Amino acid sequence: MKILEDINASVCGISPYQPGRPIEEVSRELGMEPEALVKLASNESPLGPSKKAVRAMKKAAADMHRYPEGGAWYLRRKLAELHGIDPGQLVFGNGSNELIEFIAHCFVRPGRSVVASAHAFVIYKLMTAMFGGDFIEVPMKEGLVHDLRAMRNAVREDTKVVFICNPNNPTGTMVKNRDIRGFMKDMPEDVLVVFDEAYAEITLKRMPDTMSYISEGRPVVVLRSFSKAYGLAGLRIGYGITSAGLAAVLEKPRQPFNTNRMAQAAALAALDDRAYIRRSRKTYREGARQLISCFERLGLEYIPPAANFVLLKVGDGDAVFGELQKLGLIVRPMAGYGLPEWIRISIGTEEENERCIRALCGVLE
Ligand SMILES: *Cc1c(COP(=O)(O)O)cnc(C)c1O
Repeated sequence: MKILEDINASVCGISPYQPGRPIEEVSRELGMEPEALVKLASNESPLGPSKKAVRAMKKAAADMHRYPEGGAWYLRRKLAELHGIDPGQLVFGNGSNELIEFIAHCFVRPGRSVVASAHAFVIYKLMTAMFGGDFIEVPMKEGLVHDLRAMRNAVREDTKVVFICNPNNPTGTMVKNRDIRGFMKDMPEDVLVVFDEAYAEITLKRMPDTMSYISEGRPVVVLRSFSKAYGLAGLRIGYGITSAGLAAVLEKPRQPFNTNRMAQAAALAALDDRAYIRRSRKTYREGARQLISCFERLGLEYIPPAANFVLLKVGDGDAVFGELQKLGLIVRPMAGYGLPEWIRISIGTEEENERCIRALCGVLE
C-alpha cells in the first residue's frame, strides 16, 4: 500500500514492547488449561486484587454508562492527603506507563537526548524513539546497579530527561538515598529527573526519599503505579507526583478520560486496604527467601531482590524460558533488556514459587 511509505520515521524505527506472555495466549498455544499455568512474568500481585477494590468495582459497574471524571477528584484528594502534597501536584495516567509518554510528549524531540541505564525499563527507550530523541544508555555497575555518577556524567547540553528506575526493573536493584543525593547535587536545573517507583509500597529494602526534591522545588517527577503493589495491573492506573507547575504541563497531552471510572474507584478503595499491602509484603519477603535458597542450592547466580522479582542467571535465557513454558511456567526472558543469559522471575505465592523451583530443577539439572 502506498500509504505505508509515508509513516513517520520515528514510528517506523520502533519495535513493539514485548510484554510477559499472557496466560490466555500460552494456554491457547500449548493446549493447556489456563488453571494449569503459573505466570511469574510481569511482577503482578499473586494475591489477586484487594477485596475492598473488588467491592468498589462492583459498585462502580452500575455507573459505567457515564464518562469518568477526568481529574479523578476523589482519588486526587486522597493521594494528596496521603503524600502530604497539594492536589494540583498530581497527574494521573492509564498506568504509570502513560506518564512516561506525557513526559516524552512535553520534553523529548529531535535534537534532544534522554539518559537512562542500559538495563532499565524499556519504555523509556521506546518513548524517546517515538518522539525522535536520542537515547543515551549508561552501563550499570557491578551487580547490575545504576551507576548514578556515570549517569550524571552522561548528561549533555541537549539532555532534557533522566530516568531512574528504582528499584530497577528488570534487575531488582535499588539505589540509596546517599547516592541519589550526590547525583542530584549538581544536576542542571534544566534537566527533568524522573524517579520511576512502581514498586515503592512493596520494596524489601528501605525506599529513598525522593519526594523531598519536589518540595525543594527541583524539577523532579516521581512515578507510582497501582499495577504492582495494589494488584490492579488489568485496570491501568498510575500517577505522577511533581510541582504544581510541572503537573499543569504534563496534563496537557492527557486525553480527557484516560483513567477510567472503575479504575479510579478501585484505586481509591485499594488505598484503604492497608492489610492487603502488609500481606503482600510478607508474601514477597518469604517468597524471596524461598526462591533464593533454591538458587543457592542449585549454585545459580542471582541478583538479591529489592522488590517482588528476581533476576536469575541461567546461561541461555531464551532456551530456559522456552523449556519452563513447556512445563506450564511463564517467566520473562531478558534478551530484550540486553541480558540474554538471564531470566526474570516474579515472586508468587508459596505454591507458585514451589512450582517454579521444581520446574527450574527439572530444566537446569
Ligand atoms: C510495571 C512497571 C511500570 C508500569 O506500570 P503501569 O502502571 O502498569 O503502567 C512502570 N515502571 C516500572 C519500572 C515497572 O516495572
